[in-house]
Amino acid sequence: MKKAYRASLLRFDDAGQPVFDTDGLLVVAPDAQGRERVVDAGSHGAVQPRHPDVAPEHLPGRILAPGFVDMHIHFPQTDIIGAPADGLLPWLENYTFPAETRFAEPAHSAEVAEVFLDELLRHGVTTSLTFATSHPASVDALFAAAQRRQMRLITGKVLQDRHSPDGVRDETERSLADTEDLIRRWHGVDRLGYAITPRFAPTSTEAQLRGAGELAARHADTWIQSHVAENKDEVKWARELFPASRSYLGVYDDFGLMRERAVYAHCIHFDDEDRQLMRATRTAAAVSPTSNLFLGSGFFDFEGAQRVDYLHGLASDVGGGTSFSPFHTMLAAYYVGREGQTKPGLSLAPSRLWWLHTAGAAQALGLTGTIGNLQPGCEADFLVLDPSATPLLARKSANAASLEELLFALIVLGDDRVIERTVIARAG
Ligand SMILES: [Zn+2]
Repeated sequence: MKKAYRASLLRFDDAGQPVFDTDGLLVVAPDAQGRERVVDAGSHGAVQPRHPDVAPEHLPGRILAPGFVDMHIHFPQTDIIGAPADGLLPWLENYTFPAETRFAEPAHSAEVAEVFLDELLRHGVTTSLTFATSHPASVDALFAAAQRRQMRLITGKVLQDRHSPDGVRDETERSLADTEDLIRRWHGVDRLGYAITPRFAPTSTEAQLRGAGELAARHADTWIQSHVAENKDEVKWARELFPASRSYLGVYDDFGLMRERAVYAHCIHFDDEDRQLMRATRTAAAVSPTSNLFLGSGFFDFEGAQRVDYLHGLASDVGGGTSFSPFHTMLAAYYVGREGQTKPGLSLAPSRLWWLHTAGAAQALGLTGTIGNLQPGCEADFLVLDPSATPLLARKSANAASLEELLFALIVLGDDRVIERTVIARAG
């Protein structure tokens, strides 16, 4: 059944520029498969006459916006958000690996999967590229929970066959067979997608990385996700383990793990050859600023990414990241962009930050025109935002003289209280 919503309406054009209708109309209807998609969008005055058959739901004072896309998050780390540690490697050893060990139990995986998806939706995140753990049960649990909610979600079993403690370490041959089995059972089912998931180069043997690259070639429309160049200790370790590769990033290229739909979290300690390699292979960076600030890892070089023009978008990286909220992530990205002592500093426009967490993130995932925007054809995952959710935000929103001022007020002052409703595109 066709439905329409009347409120202010935020979209992005093909160049990534914001399109804003103060009095907008969003029309959604099921496609041939029954999935709800945007069929028309624009100013109420222009769009309403084309749909005289539908009475819009009127949402005065509200903003319709695309659901946020989180390019990198760990669902098994939901409960270790905010864990104190001296940087990345101690944090992994003391908190992450013990917590992840528990996901061998299907019941625990299933319980946390529900909490995790509740949190995403409460914060307005409608799609995420998500790490599971090395246990296939964790992948089954998250896919099953997302499928019940009809969400578009991408995840995969972590590959880590060395330098990992008992309980999370897997076995090379078995890990690759499990991965291929999960791909066959879940990839492309409803709105679910599989990501081949080496944790990071230091925790995989060459045989496991080679096997992962072979799977990535055999299943060309799957995703690949991993971490790279997060902090300097980790970079040094990776360089020692793989001395033949030109750089830490080059390790992934050497094993066939850079291509379209490959997404690497962090990408901080790069040189221009690394950036060129990202561009040449259409590989994307998942920029995770709250995590990088929390763990003291460094500052992503937005100027370098724009100058070389490789794909990148925003991510929470919970539990290294400190919030599920895209507003907190966008604000942290602004801080990181401004930092000008270790790299060129720049002021990211509020609409650019927003794009990097919606349509830009979708582009980086190879999902342009499917999610992250509210142009006709997109799946109807959208948010109803309340720009007067708190007293100070209400004043700032009312006084905003431009779209950029309005979006920045939301980014600086907003959180889950702004998310009045999260709508997932239903089928049937
Ligand atoms: Zn991560």
